Amino acid sequence: MGYMKAKSTLNPTLKTSPRTFRSFLFALIFLSILLPGMNLGRALQSEDAHAATLPLDDLMIPILAYHKIDLDAPTEWYVSVEQFTRQMDVLLSYGYQTINLDDFLNYRAGLEQPPEKPIIITFDDGFQGLYQYARPILLERQMTATFFLITSKIAETEAERQSNDWQTGEPLAYHMIWPEVQQLYQDGFTIGSHTQTHPALNKISLEEAEIEITQSRLDIQAHLPGDPVNFFAYPYGAGSDDSAIRGLVQQAGYQAAVQYGPDDGLASLLTADIWALPRRAILKDVSLVLNPNDPWWFFMRRVDPEFPLPNVGIHHLEVEDVWQTNRTKFYPDEQVNLGVHVSNWDSPADVRGSLTLSSPEGVLYRSQEDPSLQEPVISSLPSGANTGVFTYTWSTPAITVTTPISYVLTVRDPTGFLTYFTSTSASAISIQPAPLSITHSPQDITLVDGSVGEVVFTVNADQPAIQMYLTVSLSQGLDVDLTHSNPSGAWQVIPIGSMIKSRECTTPCIESTDLAAEIDIPEYGSGEMSFTLGLRRLPGAGDDEWMRYRLTMRIPTAVSPYWYQRDPRSGITDQQDYFAYQVPVLPPFKIYFPVIFKW
Ligand SMILES: [Zn+2]
Repeated sequence: MGYMKAKSTLNPTLKTSPRTFRSFLFALIFLSILLPGMNLGRALQSEDAHAATLPLDDLMIPILAYHKIDLDAPTEWYVSVEQFTRQMDVLLSYGYQTINLDDFLNYRAGLEQPPEKPIIITFDDGFQGLYQYARPILLERQMTATFFLITSKIAETEAERQSNDWQTGEPLAYHMIWPEVQQLYQDGFTIGSHTQTHPALNKISLEEAEIEITQSRLDIQAHLPGDPVNFFAYPYGAGSDDSAIRGLVQQAGYQAAVQYGPDDGLASLLTADIWALPRRAILKDVSLVLNPNDPWWFFMRRVDPEFPLPNVGIHHLEVEDVWQTNRTKFYPDEQVNLGVHVSNWDSPADVRGSLTLSSPEGVLYRSQEDPSLQEPVISSLPSGANTGVFTYTWSTPAITVTTPISYVLTVRDPTGFLTYFTSTSASAISIQPAPLSITHSPQDITLVDGSVGEVVFTVNADQPAIQMYLTVSLSQGLDVDLTHSNPSGAWQVIPIGSMIKSRECTTPCIESTDLAAEIDIPEYGSGEMSFTLGLRRLPGAGDDEWMRYRLTMRIPTAVSPYWYQRDPRSGITDQQDYFAYQVPVLPPFKIYFPVIFKW
């Protein structure tokens, strides 16, 4: 943190009296008007590093005022460690660079060029939590800050550590001790005074005020050899508008002072009153979650009153399958494309959408945890209705989810730190097995040698896009002819392959005699289709011949097209084709289809 240390050494130029200093500034402003286009700053700097230059543009610099940082935030004066961490991260992600009050004065004097987006962080009252929690968070991010101490509350040793008994209504909290303050100082942080005992300076006598202001500065300097203490913070902001009190602060040797508030105040680099620099309070309720109806509490509005805020709402949801057909019912393990259309009723802004899908049993999908997905970002979402869409591809779980599935959309900034909108939970889709029923007719069949009987299998499916395979197993005394019929005419029937009739089985016959046909339903819809099977008795057949069948259904839109199938006699599923889960087919297939022979 050596760079901070260097910056905290005030340049001797600033020790001229304020009046002389101000005339010098005016002269420079005058010069810069006379010499338009000339980079006065750089030209002078290259010749003499100590010569003052002026920033060509004014900067409005936010000065944030914190009090307590702790694990929890029991009162408004606290900011939780988690919140504080996120606040620092969001500042960095938006390009802010923390500077010290010394830097502020140096930039103001034209001694250094300010960074593009400077920000000043300050802490009042010197609580231990600042050392414990804020310090490591700041150090880790190479950020700097100023700590204003109530010197009578800073003890020499751990055994003497002081509590906040001066605060009414606040939970017990402890102050830092001098070794901790010295560590902060060595880290490169700025230490300032917040009086000895934290009085409202306009409520005590000027004599008492002088002691509070002067003695606290000497207390700190006695413990921090080296740099003078240059900055003062008025307790409660009281007295910052009182010329006598301001005079005491100046006489005591400070270089600038901060007030508390106003919350909409930014410090103008060129024109701010350096004896009452405005600070914006960061309290517990200052949030990274936007309430569009009350942006006052939004953190980024504390930092930048012009920060553009969208006011996002959901316009509608579009759910479709891989064929871009809108549906709301899906099979297990199917690919679903969800498009959440959004509107924006405020400033255009870059927005990122996080989607969560859940059933009453729990979360099924969270886009933020999807490593395959870069969460969709809309650049500069325009104002107006339905001006942008976040799209997600989701594979339905490989299980039947009988409860309704709802979705919640959270709209954030592209960094993910700021939350602009969270939708209420709304019903989205359901995941169901493909409803399917199959019947055959007649229930029993009677054949004599050489005769052919017809068996009609009727399939009802009210879900789209399925392919059917009918597999028939026969004992040795039977043979079949498969014909296809499509009485409704609604579906295309595509025979594939040829009948496979093998006779490898011996009694008892194993299922090696299969007969297959594929019925492809290319369009969505519901209806009926049927297979007609010609069943023929071979000469010399015995009296215990039998036939059984199974139906296999394929879902082409599934991520891994899979098969439903069921052995109608045994009910045992074929593990190889039947992927990892069972889908009930209603009603169950008839278990056994006996063939009765008539002699
Ligand atoms: Zn205070």
